[in-house]
Amino acid sequence: MAFLKSLGEIELMAEAGQILARVIRELVEHAKIGTTTNFLDKLSFELIESNKAKPAFLGYRPAGAKRPFPKTLCASVNEVVVHGLPSDYCLQNGDLLKIDLGLEYQGFFVDSAITVGVGRISRKARKLIEVTRNSLDLAIKNLSPGLTLGDIGYTIENYARKNKFSIIRSLTGHGIGRQLHEEPTVLNFGKPNTGLELVPGMVLAIEPMISLSNLDNGCNIQELKDGSYATKDKSLSAHFEHTVAITEAGPRVLTRL
Ligand code: MG
Ligand code: MG
Repeated sequence: MAFLKSLGEIELMAEAGQILARVIRELVEHAKIGTTTNFLDKLSFELIESNKAKPAFLGYRPAGAKRPFPKTLCASVNEVVVHGLPSDYCLQNGDLLKIDLGLEYQGFFVDSAITVGVGRISRKARKLIEVTRNSLDLAIKNLSPGLTLGDIGYTIENYARKNKFSIIRSLTGHGIGRQLHEEPTVLNFGKPNTGLELVPGMVLAIEPMISLSNLDNGCNIQELKDGSYATKDKSLSAHFEHTVAITEAGPRVLTRL
């Protein structure tokens, strides 16, 4: 499989992942009431450059997008799930901010996302954040050669369902390495023991996106004017993402400090 990485390449991606994790940690510290998402965008650009890395999203045109993404950071607020365009919007008490960031370092890409509650958030919003984070942790925990992509998707969706939330089915994770988006597509739903089998050397960006909608068939999204995607029913959404390498010894989370 062409997209498998050598141990040396995984080490480089791990270095890149540690830079990204530190940048995201700093962004989270600044995600407070009154901060604009443009400020966070500018900060992310400066931090990435000062680490001799390059922003991965700036100028990137995802399949189907009308134009290249003009910013470093995706900052998606409340019902906006992904591709939120940084702006002069000031973060408000109770907002759910999704910070999604990617960078390129020595020819390799890494990608990670986190959801932050701004000020005091509702109990439901807190639960949504918790469930989304846990679904990612659960999916990662047991990753080992021999499991399948279907197992990852099943773990995520099953956990979301148990908590009466729904997966945003049309947004997915992906392979990652010399490109930001590589094969395979990593769905957030699936059947155990189906789909591509995991083998050492695969590196996947696993990224559950979950909404408060209680729809059994998953929550629908729509594209907004700025190119971002929001839930159709305006329900709150959360997103977590890590870049994870499959190794003989189990999963190695490259974007976790
Ligand atoms: Mg991402
Ligand atoms: Mg991604």
